[in-house]
Amino acid sequence: MKVTEYFKKANGQTLISFEVLPPLKGGSMQAIFDVLDPLMEFRPPFIDVTYHREDYIYKQRQSGYFEKIAIRKRPGTVGICASIMHRYGVDAVPHLICGGFSKEETENALIDLNYLNINNVLALRGDARKFDGKFIPEPDGHNYAIDLVTQVDDMNHGKYLDANIENGMKTNFCIGIAGYPEKHFEAPNMDFDLEWAKKKVEAGANYIVTQMFFDNNKYFEYVDACRKAGINVPIVPGLKPLTKKYQLNALPRLFHLNLPNDLLDAIMKAKNAEARRQVGIEWSIMQSKELKEKGAPCLHFYTMGDVDTIREIAEKVF
Ligand code: FAD
Repeated sequence: MKVTEYFKKANGQTLISFEVLPPLKGGSMQAIFDVLDPLMEFRPPFIDVTYHREDYIYKQRQSGYFEKIAIRKRPGTVGICASIMHRYGVDAVPHLICGGFSKEETENALIDLNYLNINNVLALRGDARKFDGKFIPEPDGHNYAIDLVTQVDDMNHGKYLDANIENGMKTNFCIGIAGYPEKHFEAPNMDFDLEWAKKKVEAGANYIVTQMFFDNNKYFEYVDACRKAGINVPIVPGLKPLTKKYQLNALPRLFHLNLPNDLLDAIMKAKNAEARRQVGIEWSIMQSKELKEKGAPCLHFYTMGDVDTIREIAEKVF
């Protein structure tokens, strides 16, 4: 079933969903099951699986020269999605990125997903490779998520890259996109970012999942701004509990967000790691309850492997 159909069916009730990362190469599917098994009692209708582009590492050879090697640290998104659907009977949402894919490879990936009866995708540009500094597309790949959305939408209308294909099979993908309550870090301002979000919706995107945030007002303001800009699709808040001291710097650096003073103070004052964890859990419960009260369609938790914490929060909220 499509993600947006779950929202319609819920009829105003707030749903819960989770996002998992593929294990590091060499890891097993059991790592994903260990995260999801304890969370399935909360009945998520869908689970997202992230996608990670290949990155480079530099290895020093005996000669002293450094060799640049491309590695994909977390392969397996499509297989994990199929496995999740098979084990739990829920829908899986693979993240589909522009980075590392030619248009042809994207088309073939979408055909695989369609054959696997996976009818939801989150269409993203994808993170830049660490050593590139900025996002670099494949020579025949997409530069922005909007181009990927357009390609998926074209296939939903039976249009393939090869113009000779007539009456092509129409896929049936529900398309999610990313949204940024605190603005995408590259966008010169929020209006610019919203303009492109609106264009992605006009190109065929059906719903938005937001970047994590720790101040609910940012989400409420973002939803208001989207509505004013004419973006009327469901907007799902993305949530992650902040439970460790290093995250005070790491989360703003990685995800370009601000932390509210009250949360910062409480984490700084907490006496030990367990006390900090409790602060983060309470904060996330407070955020979740308010978002639920105010009618968010779904609370989407970035699990990042921290299943016990997510469980403690979900138990208090659902
Ligand atoms: P885009 O929509 O392409 O936007 C990128 C920037 O360009 C924005 O500043 C936008 O305003 C601007 N822009 C958009 N279109 C145009 C245009 N045509 N011309 C000029 N400017 C334009 N990354 C991964 O690698 N794997 C994942 O699995 C993953 N999952 C994510 C899930 C969520 C919910 C979120 C919020 C992010 C995720 N990311 C993931 C990170 C994401 O790929 C990055 O934030 C990336 O930098 C931007 O992706 P986007 O789809 O928003 O890009």
